[in-house]
Amino acid sequence: MIRIIILGGSFGGLTAALELRKRLGPDQCDILLLAKDDRFVFIPSLPWVAIGTRTLEQISFPLAKTLKRKTIRFSQQAARQIDPEKRLVHTDQEDHHYDYLIIATGHRSANEAVPGLGPFDGPGHSLMSPPEVLEARQSLKDFLLNPGPLVVGCAPGASCIGPSYEFAFAMDHLLRQRKIRHRVPITLVTPEPFPGHFGLGGVGNTRRFVEDALEKREISYHTSAVVSRITSTAVELADGPKIESCFSLILPPLAGVKAVANAKGFIPVDEYYRHPAFPNIYAAGVAVAMVPVAPTPVPVNFPKTGGMTEQMARAVAHNIAADIQGGTRISKDLFAECIMDMGDTAAYFKAEPVRPPRNVACMAGGKRWLWAKKAFERYYLWKARRGKTFAAGWGW
Ligand SMILES: Cc1cc2nc3c(=O)[nH]c(=O)nc-3n(C[C@H](O)[C@H](O)[C@H](O)COP(=O)(O)OP(=O)(O)OC[C@H]3O[C@@H](n4cnc5c(N)ncnc54)[C@H](O)[C@@H]3O)c2cc1C
Repeated sequence: MIRIIILGGSFGGLTAALELRKRLGPDQCDILLLAKDDRFVFIPSLPWVAIGTRTLEQISFPLAKTLKRKTIRFSQQAARQIDPEKRLVHTDQEDHHYDYLIIATGHRSANEAVPGLGPFDGPGHSLMSPPEVLEARQSLKDFLLNPGPLVVGCAPGASCIGPSYEFAFAMDHLLRQRKIRHRVPITLVTPEPFPGHFGLGGVGNTRRFVEDALEKREISYHTSAVVSRITSTAVELADGPKIESCFSLILPPLAGVKAVANAKGFIPVDEYYRHPAFPNIYAAGVAVAMVPVAPTPVPVNFPKTGGMTEQMARAVAHNIAADIQGGTRISKDLFAECIMDMGDTAAYFKAEPVRPPRNVACMAGGKRWLWAKKAFERYYLWKARRGKTFAAGWGW
């Protein structure tokens, strides 16, 4: 029996597991999914948990039951090391042998890049994982009782830029609702050369759209900003001012998970999402190494969205099934499609393909996108919990 091990139970790992099972029955292969966490979390809703409009329970479900339905084995174990020569995954509990391995372990926040990023190693706050978001939620409660200047943004080298805008817009909306916006100057600091670059070089009209939105909401901004330190009272920029801050949320640059990427790196892959040196190892999602769209004065890395992660995971499942059953591997240009929450409204953008020049590059705003974002979250969780994946190109 062929043994396939999948590391990670999020957009990449769960999609790869379910798509593989669609293609290869239980008589053809044994699939074991190992993940550090025992729940699937709909990460795009983490900013709503920080703001307090969602709980973690509402945006997550246990992996074990869903996977069991599809005859996929699950164990909550974190990979500690991979031995690609012996085809072994080592965890603290046991060693697992594989014929094929899929790495979908996401990111590690490289907090060492800027002193003070936090939240567990400095005074800053973050949205990058459930524990960090729960900390932000708690600290925000105190901040709202005793408001003051707020600084939101990203550190140099960040790739997950969109959520910093979402948080700034959501805070603006929340503070206006509470009639305390006048007590909270909001500043956005970003390594992007212009607002709405998103690590993609901008998409159609995103620059004008995001600049207008910031100006309309009186959120001041610093572009090509090099955040050099966060203290409990300020965010410091290398080339300029110390910006006074009572609550600082600066998203970090990301790195690969140490257990699978050894040093800092992400996993290198060829056009089939296959490791160039080990053809039975594939990777999907944030764990994959991707070069920036174009150089920028301050480094901005390539964003890997949930939708792109699923496109990669589907290609990986197809390609492993092709390796096993005989068939042609696929390599497909990725596209990016996102809805950005803006508090009382939202904006949709699409970049197809994700790297320019593009066939589709647009951004549009309106309340209907906020309803669409909320509806998509509910529908996605409902469907994923039942072990169903989405048709390519739907919804994201
Ligand atoms: C705040 C925020 C908002 C976002 N909003 C959007 C959005 O609106 N739209 C969008 O398209 N994208 C959004 N994204 C990006 C999206 O969430 C990611 O693209 C997606 O989560 C990547 O999925 P992944 O499977 O690659 O990794 P992750 O979601 O990071 O999951 C990693 C998985 O690996 C497991 N793991 C980690 N280490 C190990 C180990 N050593 N051994 C075994 N398992 C391990 C974890 O338990 C987890 O299951 C957002 C991201 C953030 C942080």
